[in-house]
Amino acid sequence: MIMSTIAHNLQAVDASIVAAAAAAGRPRADVQLLAVSKTFPAGAVLDAVAAGQRAFGENYLQEALDKMRAVAQALPGIELAWHFIGPIQSNKTKPIAGGFSWVHTVDRLKIAQRLSEQRPPELGPLNICLQVNISGEASKSGVSPGELPELARQVALLPNLHLRGLMAIPEPETQPEKQRIAFRQLRELADTLRAQGLSLDTLSMGMSSDLGAAVMEGATIVRIGTAIFGSRHYD
Ligand SMILES: *Cc1c(COP(=O)(O)O)cnc(C)c1O
Repeated sequence: MIMSTIAHNLQAVDASIVAAAAAAGRPRADVQLLAVSKTFPAGAVLDAVAAGQRAFGENYLQEALDKMRAVAQALPGIELAWHFIGPIQSNKTKPIAGGFSWVHTVDRLKIAQRLSEQRPPELGPLNICLQVNISGEASKSGVSPGELPELARQVALLPNLHLRGLMAIPEPETQPEKQRIAFRQLRELADTLRAQGLSLDTLSMGMSSDLGAAVMEGATIVRIGTAIFGSRHYD
């Protein structure tokens, strides 16, 4: 059987997760692979689905909605989980609340409130990660560690959201030992929130170039684009 490049890449990424989980003494099943399909066409998602992948991450709302529609038309009846992982504009929350099962990039209460109000009740609660701006983060998005506990407390109270955990995009580092520092900080912030009574089960951290370090520090969702779909021509 001839494998698509995407199927082949998915196997290689899975092998990396298996190896990192084994090194960390963690069960492979504790780490979910989110395939980040931003900038790639619906056909790339179809290839990944054919290889067994079911969870996809998207950053750009209109592109995502078009792709989701195309994929649903091509594969009626196959249930996929779409995760929104891009910056959120407050006037764009409604299609996010209605179209996705997870949002990883909530960093302020106003956005969380709108997502909760606009979540169609029949879909059940929308799964939420709070994006944290851990020290030295390249992007300016994310709540500061100091403001995180109050935001987490408020978001946990919103009726149509399910606060699952934390997400971060650390500054790129090439050495695994350095990559682990920011991931460890995110894990410790989640531990602190748990000690304060919040039940969190998710650490969304790790991308193509730092997956191993993230799994070593407890990632439960790794968000992988390039290593599955190839390099992006725009972003
Ligand atoms: C693009 C993107 C990814 C995937 O990055 P790769 O380096 O291509 O694996 C993961 N998370 C977020 C938030 C992204 O925007």
